[in-house]
Amino acid sequence: MTSTNIQDYKIATMGSHTALQILKGAKDEGFQTLCVVTPKTRPVYEHYGMVDEFIEIDHYKNFCEIEQQLIDKNCIAIPHGSFVSYLGHECMKNLKCMHYGTKGILEWESDRAMERKWLLKAGLKLPKIFKSPEEIDRAVIIKFHGAKGGSGYFIANNPKEFYEGLAKYGRDDDYVIQEYIVGVPMYVHYFYSPLTKELEIMSFDKRYESNADSIGRIAARDQLAADIQTSYTITGNIPLVVRESLLPMLYEMGENTVKTSQDLVGKGLFGPFCLEGIMDTNLNFYVFEISARIVAGTNPFINGSPYTALRYDEPMSTGRRMARDIKQGIESGQLDKILG
Ligand code: AMP
Repeated sequence: MTSTNIQDYKIATMGSHTALQILKGAKDEGFQTLCVVTPKTRPVYEHYGMVDEFIEIDHYKNFCEIEQQLIDKNCIAIPHGSFVSYLGHECMKNLKCMHYGTKGILEWESDRAMERKWLLKAGLKLPKIFKSPEEIDRAVIIKFHGAKGGSGYFIANNPKEFYEGLAKYGRDDDYVIQEYIVGVPMYVHYFYSPLTKELEIMSFDKRYESNADSIGRIAARDQLAADIQTSYTITGNIPLVVRESLLPMLYEMGENTVKTSQDLVGKGLFGPFCLEGIMDTNLNFYVFEISARIVAGTNPFINGSPYTALRYDEPMSTGRRMARDIKQGIESGQLDKILG
């Protein structure tokens, strides 16, 4: 019989991305914690003192080699962005250890065409996609597949600029030509619990991107002289509070995203997820991507956000919210509902 005592389980994750808040949150909820580290990352996780047990490996891409140990220790693994990126979607799909969240949804998230189908079905506004460079009739952003942290993206206003950009970057591999939305980037951090069947907005962030966030620090004439290629390499996250009148729209978008996912794959999307978009001057929110798991933009809120403060009388990070979901699942005998 499955134990309903949380002491019979451990919460495990990989030492990177949002591991600090995941492990702290797990400890705050009373769990034993395990962190998979490398010799290089171990000191950080030792320093903060919320890890009960370490498993050390040479490189995170070898994570699957220690999976049996996680199974033997009755660990529930919590995936995050680096976790998925190191393992790859195939390896993630084949994980046998207990895993928080729906694995099936990762396929919808990782395939651009499937992701678009999902979000359009949910009624969200998305930037237009141009099928061929000849159709470019406005500002577009060209994104190369797998471009790490948005480096190597470029902007074009017409087919000529597109081909010039392509030549400059010397690559013509897998790319997408997306309408460039003039507005402010906004990342909405949601949490959906399959136990309470409620959607929560946990927090918001904007990204601190180099060199996109630094170009404006020099005068226009110097920008032209410097001939800088804009890049969007993420270096950190900045907390954001949005205009309160936007909340109903943002709630509805999150609810539709969850509802639609339930028609697409098994238990659907649950746990933390993020709609990543640009808000234009008419307050239209154009979503350019979804992350179907915890995002690093939740890291400024380890002690909770203004939104979680309204709902909880204690600091509630997204990491802790997951641990609470797991705890409630275990104690109410519904663990199967939150494992994917
Ligand atoms: P991504 O790698 O898709 O997360 O995008 C990196 C950054 O590029 C974002 O944080 C935005 O600042 C910017 N960006 C991406 N897509 C668009 C778009 N369609 N319109 C305007 N800016 C965008």
